[in-house]
Amino acid sequence: MQDVIVVGAGPAGSYAAYALAKKGFTVKQLEEHQEVGKPVECTGLVSKRVLKFVKTGSIINKVHGAHVYFPNDGKISISKADETVVLERDEFDKDVSGMATGAGVELIINAKALAIRRDPDGIMVRTRCNRDIQELKARAVIGADGANSIVRKDLFGERIKRVVSAYQVESAEQLEDQDNVNVYLGSAITKGYFAWATPAGDTSRIGTASIGGTSRNYFHELNRRFRNNKILSITGGPIPISTLSKTYGERALLVGDAAGIVKPLSGGGIYTGILSGSKAAIALEHALERNDLSEKKLKSYEKMWKSEIGTELKIDLMIQKLFARITDYSFVKLYEIISREENMEVIGRVGDIDFPSRVVASLVLRNPALLSHILFPRRLSL
Ligand SMILES: Cc1cc2nc3c(=O)[nH]c(=O)nc-3n(C[C@H](O)[C@H](O)[C@H](O)COP(=O)(O)OP(=O)(O)OC[C@H]3O[C@@H](n4cnc5c(N)ncnc54)[C@H](O)[C@@H]3O)c2cc1C
Repeated sequence: MQDVIVVGAGPAGSYAAYALAKKGFTVKQLEEHQEVGKPVECTGLVSKRVLKFVKTGSIINKVHGAHVYFPNDGKISISKADETVVLERDEFDKDVSGMATGAGVELIINAKALAIRRDPDGIMVRTRCNRDIQELKARAVIGADGANSIVRKDLFGERIKRVVSAYQVESAEQLEDQDNVNVYLGSAITKGYFAWATPAGDTSRIGTASIGGTSRNYFHELNRRFRNNKILSITGGPIPISTLSKTYGERALLVGDAAGIVKPLSGGGIYTGILSGSKAAIALEHALERNDLSEKKLKSYEKMWKSEIGTELKIDLMIQKLFARITDYSFVKLYEIISREENMEVIGRVGDIDFPSRVVASLVLRNPALLSHILFPRRLSL
């Protein structure tokens, strides 16, 4: 019997598998697709914190700021000393997976977990491997199987409450400004979230996401801004932006998108996924060594990831829920305040894509008038 089965070979699962194998545990990893990293469903924008976990050759661009466009076409430009990197996401996933297999993880591709159940002495994973159905057994399982996790469904029985739907194209149009991402706000191009255009070297990634709506319809409006857009490929998918109430159970942990450990304001889940994977490996290491895989023992996993990002994700979700209600009129009012020089200085100094609540708190403290536009958005025409 294996020590651990990891379901899913995205960044969260591969990092957890790598960290456990490095400690000498036997790890089997299942990936339903025939190639790790494909299909790509991502813009690939991450902070440099990710590079502390993974050495990667997949960086295709580095940006130092953002242009944010408001519904009246008002624009603020944020500039940061720290760079944010744009990854070629399939290459990045292969790099993390390479760390795992290099450490001894047995990766099985074309292997889809169909059903998971607890036995008295282990976890059974019913798997379709190519065309064969197999019952695999392990002492514990990590559900790293993304937004529609089967591990979550079978062992945790809970749904993610807040999910964003994203639609993105890879465009042959090269953005002139390669040093800034573009963010678009307003009801014409998104329902309750935002749209973006990210410079990715020779191409650009243009997309929009919405809460409780189909973002594809909004994309057509967004695309008017890109007259020469030559679409090379289309991608998209759900992004779970609220965390499950419990991410651990007897013999089982959920990491990354499977647990909704994703940044609510940006929909970014690569950093948080890898971070949660690293904590899952530490918790399981202690539990496996003591042969105590009880729910009580594995609670340490949730304590660990929450101590680093739990408060941030909680506050960001509250902010996101308020943000989703802001009207075009109120966005313009926010723009009039935020674009003042002293506030732009605060954004440049405090802004952090992994910890955005800090900049929101700093701005609100300095400008209490922001609160009334956030809490009581007004529906007047522009
Ligand atoms: C359009 C879009 C743009 C995004 N842009 C960014 C961004 O710029 N920056 C950022 O940080 N995040 C971004 N995200 C979010 C990011 O892609 C995810 O948060 C991240 O991939 C989560 O990693 P994960 O390992 O938890 O899950 P995933 O990367 O989803 O990996 C899950 C893996 O499990 C496999 N799997 C699923 N079910 C099974 C099964 N039953 N059996 C076997 N294998 C299975 C899947 O094939 C997949 O390989 C974006 C998402 C979308 C949709």
